[in-house]
Amino acid sequence: MKNMKKLLCLALAAMLCAVCFVGCGKTEADVTTAATDASTEATTEATTEATTEATTEAPAVKKTLTMATNAEFPPYEYYENDKIVGIDAEIAAAIAEKLGMELVIEDMKFDSIITSVVSGGVDMGMAGMTVTDERLESVNFSVSYATGIQSVIVKTGSDVKTLDDLAGKKIGVQLATTGDIYASGDYGEDNVIKYNKGADAVLALIGGDVDAVIIDNQPAKVFVEQNEGLEILGTEYAVEEYAIAVNKENTELLNQINGALEALIADGTVDTIVAKYISAE
Ligand code: GLN
Repeated sequence: MKNMKKLLCLALAAMLCAVCFVGCGKTEADVTTAATDASTEATTEATTEATTEATTEAPAVKKTLTMATNAEFPPYEYYENDKIVGIDAEIAAAIAEKLGMELVIEDMKFDSIITSVVSGGVDMGMAGMTVTDERLESVNFSVSYATGIQSVIVKTGSDVKTLDDLAGKKIGVQLATTGDIYASGDYGEDNVIKYNKGADAVLALIGGDVDAVIIDNQPAKVFVEQNEGLEILGTEYAVEEYAIAVNKENTELLNQINGALEALIADGTVDTIVAKYISAE
């Protein structure tokens, strides 16, 4: 009897144990599954992320190259429908492509470009921009990619025939450009009327508000072609070099831009772009 009880007890214990085992086993199994699930999930997620990054998301993480310009300066930068086109826009796009970056152009007033480069709001300024000692105090410039000439536009038959004739006359310029800076120095601030757009200075000339406009030669040619009764004086007012302005701290980008630009000059890309917009004289 005693033994019987013992046996029963053992049997019971065994049953309990079995139940426990089953229970424990199940739990253990569940935990393991969950853990496996979790790790599978983690792996799947990681794989998915990696794949997505490699395929669809890669272009989105492409570094942008932001360029400040003033799209009022044909043939270097101007609007064609809603798009900014021109020599600078195309050279900048070629530079960005070489650097594996995505070009973003920001249109702003000419006199905001240097400020934006200095503040870091944009990566570079490209706007038929002349290298001057004063600008070199705030920004660095790339190698030069074009020559610019400050020209004088007058009405056909004007009594202004030489640079000396400009003395005492009203001269229209685009605000903060080298035309503005030089003319204000040579002919006096009072005689220089500053406009936000070169085109507005030309309209003022047509309207008789100013006697001459001092502006870079290529836009000058475009404005004279677009409007009747205007001509460009034979005398050049100043000869300059155009380059890209970069923040002084960002020498790495300056070097990258110079490398790309030098290559594009050497392989004839810059010449091809220029020829597309300026017919040979
Ligand atoms: N080359 C001139 C300058 O740098 C004018 C440039 C412009 O009007 N976009 O001041």
